[in-house]
Amino acid sequence: MNRTNETGRSMVEMLGVLAVMGVLSVGGVTMYTSAMNKHRANELLNEASKRATSIAAQISMMGKDPDTMSVSEFGNPSGYVFTVAKKNPNQFTIGLKTEDNGIIDSEICTQMKAAVGTATPIRKISDDCAELTFNNDLSKNSSSDQENSLTETPSADCTGKEDGTLCDTPFDTLYWGYCYNEICLAWQPSCKWTEWFNVDTPPEGSFNDSNGDFETIENIRAAGGEVCDHPQEIECEALKYPGLTVKQVGQNAVCDPESGLICINSEQPGLFKHCYDYHVRFLCCEYKDGRVRRSPIS
Ligand code: CA
Repeated sequence: MNRTNETGRSMVEMLGVLAVMGVLSVGGVTMYTSAMNKHRANELLNEASKRATSIAAQISMMGKDPDTMSVSEFGNPSGYVFTVAKKNPNQFTIGLKTEDNGIIDSEICTQMKAAVGTATPIRKISDDCAELTFNNDLSKNSSSDQENSLTETPSADCTGKEDGTLCDTPFDTLYWGYCYNEICLAWQPSCKWTEWFNVDTPPEGSFNDSNGDFETIENIRAAGGEVCDHPQEIECEALKYPGLTVKQVGQNAVCDPESGLICINSEQPGLFKHCYDYHVRFLCCEYKDGRVRRSPIS
């Protein structure tokens, strides 16, 4: 009797174990499928991003227009076909479909849309995931509010120049680009002013000497301030004369984006040769490929 009871209990226990195992394996399969879809979605997004980078590079380096690129240049990645189309001067799209012209698996599409928020070069993905939109410039994070953009700039200095020649644009010192078909394809940089820095103060009671106000990039950095390597512009402002330049307040000082502000007491006019206390800020710009113009066109 005891044995029967034990067996009966064991049977119930066994059934319970089997039921639990069943639930676990169903859950396991679901999790596995979900992980596979996620993996596939990431693979497709990565592949599309890689291709987009290559397209952007070809546009910029070889002056190649996506309109003229054939689909075969992009091959067939593992069961999917990518196509490329120019959307506007600043954007192009990569089309995505399966090799048998079928629609993209909805689960994979869901995962792609979830992942695209973190896939920075992609600007937009269509509802059915058949179209991914990219900027021509992929060097910037699309979620950033500061973006570089490609503009076609008619420029006299590209006349007769070979494709790929560096061109300067006449209308704004902050643009540069490549000549292509005698048109300057220029990247508008993203620029922003730093905060105002005031890391030095002219010592009180010192006149006509080598003291002064030294808001140099070196000093600002030493004080923990962050300034880019080659600022485009600088603003130097005396604290007690906001909105006026060094010249407008009648002082003599170096106010240069490459070095910062250097004001020396002895170089000031008047009886009491003494520098005002200045603060400075810099305009920092980022260009495609991280390239910077060291000096503005004069
Ligand atoms: Ca100062």
